[in-house]
Amino acid sequence: MSLKYDLHSHSTVSDGTLTPGELVALAADSGVDVLALTDHDNVSGMPEARVVAQEKGIRLIPGVEVSVSWNGYTVHILGLNIDPEAEDLLAGLQQLCDYRRWRAEEIGRRLAKKGIPGAYEGACALATGALVGRLHFARFLVQQGHAQDIKRVFQKYLVKGKPGYVNGEWAGLEDALDWICKAGGMAVIAHPARYNMTRGKLRRLIGEFKELGGRGLEVVSGSHSKDEYFTMARHAQDFALLASAGSDFHGPENPWINLGQLPDLPPGSEPVWNHF
Ligand code: AMP
Ligand code: MN
Ligand code: MN
Ligand code: MN
Repeated sequence: MSLKYDLHSHSTVSDGTLTPGELVALAADSGVDVLALTDHDNVSGMPEARVVAQEKGIRLIPGVEVSVSWNGYTVHILGLNIDPEAEDLLAGLQQLCDYRRWRAEEIGRRLAKKGIPGAYEGACALATGALVGRLHFARFLVQQGHAQDIKRVFQKYLVKGKPGYVNGEWAGLEDALDWICKAGGMAVIAHPARYNMTRGKLRRLIGEFKELGGRGLEVVSGSHSKDEYFTMARHAQDFALLASAGSDFHGPENPWINLGQLPDLPPGSEPVWNHF
């Protein structure tokens, strides 16, 4: 029997709804053998996750999902199998979390101008972890009846061109790769099909990423279609990059993305986990 891998997941440390311990326990109970905890811009969930992983007999891969700005796009870079105590990584992530605090206040100010007061406070109350993200705002806005569900609330308020959108000023690609590599990790482009880039733009990103020491593409993702698995697998092969698989699980209230149910990588892919 081959092992079940899920190398992309979120806890309450960022914008997931389960604590690190609850997440690891659910992954183990769902049949996952190897789980990467990859919270946005933060690694403070690792000690708790590690304890439960040991209790449950599941392998925990310490990870992070770094927010990067690249040519006007926000791109997410996963660091897998990192040392969560590496100094440069922690210093870099601290800057991103500081920026997130300012951005959250700014989102609150912009929504207030549009007649929605208290969104910053509301989002903070829903964020029990290290950072406040757009998903916390989305949950607050749904609770307040401003839209029917999370998808619609993003479309109405939180994406580019909408009142609650603040253009992110995240890490540079080079910085993110530097932090991950110095932390002994493997850098992987998260959900590469989700950036609305032309094929040429995406391949430029992949090329630069590889030049800077990037190792893989997330080929199978909870947010990719089946066709996209194959397209991304081909890009990975063209650039001699490894292939990763992750659900991008944020909590059990999104029943269409479950832990432990990812399909196999397309044939010809070299799995990133063979190189941990
Ligand atoms: P942030 O990093 O705070 O800007 O928020 C990005 C996060 O918001 C992603 O990791 C998702 O969890 C969530 N997100 C972004 N766009 C959408 C969307 N259209 N629908 C649902 N969730 C989204
Ligand atoms: Mn998220
Ligand atoms: Mn992401
Ligand atoms: Mn994610």
